[in-house]
Amino acid sequence: MSHSKHTKRGYSIYIEKWNPSAKKYINTCVLCGCKGYSPALEQEGFCKSREQAVIFRELSRTLPRLELDERGCCADCARILEKV
Ligand SMILES: [Zn+2]
Repeated sequence: MSHSKHTKRGYSIYIEKWNPSAKKYINTCVLCGCKGYSPALEQEGFCKSREQAVIFRELSRTLPRLELDERGCCADCARILEKV
């Protein structure tokens, strides 16, 4: 649902206005829609450029770390799926 009127902004204005490319490092769970920063940000060498270091700092400050599995689900949803 990309046309929802009710957009909750969980991350900073920096990501919204200044550096939209940072959005590709934001993971969204396909089931519950929770957002978090991609674990790719924590990989060694990512923060070697200043821009990437800022992206990491901004995202990690405003979002939890969110790892998605191959289905695009967060760990919580994956656990629920396994039970059913
Ligand atoms: Zn989820």
